[in-house]
Amino acid sequence: MSSFGTILHRHLKELVFSSGPFSYLTVRKGRRSVNLFSAMERTRVFERMESETFDVMVIGGGITGAGIALDAVTRGMKVALVEMSDFASGTSSRSTKLVHGGLRYLKQFEIKEVAELGRERAIVYENGPHVTTPEWMLLPFHEGGTFGKMTTSVGLMVYDFLAGVKKSERRRMLSKEETIKRAPVIKKDGLLGGGLYVEYRTDDARLTIEVMKAAFAKGAAITNYAKANRFLYDSNLRAVGAEVIDRLTGDRFQVKAKLIINAAGPWVDSVRELDSSKMDKHLILSKGVHLVFDQSVFPLSQAVYFDTPDGRMVFAIPREGKTYVGTTDTFFEGNPKDMAITEEDRHYIVKSIHYMFPELSISEEDIESGWAGVRPLIHEKGKGPSEISRKDEIWESESGIITIAGGKLTGYRKMAQTVVDRAVRRLKEKEDKNFGPCITKNLPISGGDFGGAFRMRQVVKEMVDFAFDEGLSADETAEIVKMYGTNAKKVIGYSKGNSSTLPNGLYGRLLYAIYEEMAVKPVDFFIRRTGKLLFDISVVMKWKDEVVSYMASLFGWSEEERNSYMEELDFEILYATTAQ
Ligand SMILES: Cc1cc2nc3c(=O)[nH]c(=O)nc-3n(C[C@H](O)[C@H](O)[C@H](O)COP(=O)(O)OP(=O)(O)OC[C@H]3O[C@@H](n4cnc5c(N)ncnc54)[C@H](O)[C@@H]3O)c2cc1C
Repeated sequence: MSSFGTILHRHLKELVFSSGPFSYLTVRKGRRSVNLFSAMERTRVFERMESETFDVMVIGGGITGAGIALDAVTRGMKVALVEMSDFASGTSSRSTKLVHGGLRYLKQFEIKEVAELGRERAIVYENGPHVTTPEWMLLPFHEGGTFGKMTTSVGLMVYDFLAGVKKSERRRMLSKEETIKRAPVIKKDGLLGGGLYVEYRTDDARLTIEVMKAAFAKGAAITNYAKANRFLYDSNLRAVGAEVIDRLTGDRFQVKAKLIINAAGPWVDSVRELDSSKMDKHLILSKGVHLVFDQSVFPLSQAVYFDTPDGRMVFAIPREGKTYVGTTDTFFEGNPKDMAITEEDRHYIVKSIHYMFPELSISEEDIESGWAGVRPLIHEKGKGPSEISRKDEIWESESGIITIAGGKLTGYRKMAQTVVDRAVRRLKEKEDKNFGPCITKNLPISGGDFGGAFRMRQVVKEMVDFAFDEGLSADETAEIVKMYGTNAKKVIGYSKGNSSTLPNGLYGRLLYAIYEEMAVKPVDFFIRRTGKLLFDISVVMKWKDEVVSYMASLFGWSEEERNSYMEELDFEILYATTAQ
């Protein structure tokens, strides 16, 4: 093992035997027992997957698959989940990053969806307040705009009612002057006033990973970079498992399961094709782009949901010294992995900004980074991308594979409940076996063990005090605590005894990402575990060489592998900044 790796292992060994954040690790028969969702333990997860027969095998490690795995394992099922790339690398890291009820769907009279998503918002927040932050959203109205004062007021009131919003968070109507005070850069010409209502800001990838970690901690066998390649069938042509390819080594192995759930997001049709399933309904993909600006060029302290010249609605959201704006909504054909931010996308968003924030002299050169994702929508003939419903549907193939498609990040828990209810029925029919009821409504996700969201502020304060004693700056500590919630102590623990040239906080995050969040590649760390590539690209530029070298020595990469991981990271940097 390289010197870096040796040092790290020695360091970890010390931590294993120490108390504090690592005290839950146990040493059995001279060997560390595996309790960690670690990149170092993937082989052991594969061994387990190969040797057991699971009740449920989930294909897809986005928020939908993660939610299903957590629901199923907490009902007593034996669960395996495979993700062909990194967790959340599909749509679940490319959304508008809001846990929201979908105000605009009221325009389409999708009352049931709005009510359900609205109620789910509160549950997602309660179970993971470290990844879900209430955010007052401003809906300005102008002469001749989509909404007037009356429609905004009534619309928001209905929204509050449907979502069962608590009194302190119910909508408030603002005068023109109050609206300008909150968002001084907003278009003043024709401005009549605004409505204020609460949505929740999230980090979609971290939400997914926290749900995944919770499922793993409850006993699910989960791994990334493992692709379901073909299905296995019994003599009655019922699917009984899948051949899986480890995409890091090329090794193949078989996973046996009584039931398979296809949660492959934009790829659900490709997975159904592996099964030669008859497809009455299919997906249509719609691309959505977001662009990130520094607050020095787009100063905004108040999130705004605004009209565009073509009658759509776009968000501008302040976050960590940046403002991000989106989204576009255009049909997309092809492999979602090949998607790029086009000139047309950039024009559309910049034009929308000019329309609602005319005083800002923003140009395309000011774009700092961005991302594009595809919505997996269920095809509805004759409808444009923004008109198609975002609701989810469940299909079952003749071979017994259950597919879940459509839906929203916000509704992941409820979607999982519905699909696992069905799995329970199917398993009962098969072997007369009973499983417990769904318990995820009151189940904190990883890092969310505050004893109630209302206690978060106090716990965060306590942890900041604790970490300050550990030699981290107050700002850095606060950032870590807000991001990792009740797991922050572990991250801070890893930052102790930093043997690299990386800053302590980044070092702690890197080790935590590798040892407890299964980060395998530099892109996993910079995009899905920390979001740095999207919201603080300067950190990536400054530290990428050190991070790649560190990972290379830890994982024992050859020169060729190191270069290829660096190239992959550089490609993602280029991709995020093609906007420029
Ligand atoms: C632009 C945009 C904005 C959005 N904004 C919001 C928002 O603000 N709020 C909200 O609630 N929702 C939002 N959504 C919707 C939300 O992001 C999606 O509904 C959600 O992320 C879908 O998650 P998923 O797990 O179904 O799909 P994905 O996250 O794409 O996960 C599917 C996974 O399956 C894996 N996979 C595919 N094939 C295989 C295979 N053969 N073997 C193993 N793994 C496989 C893929 O690699 C992928 O990671 C938005 C969507 C977009 C595109």
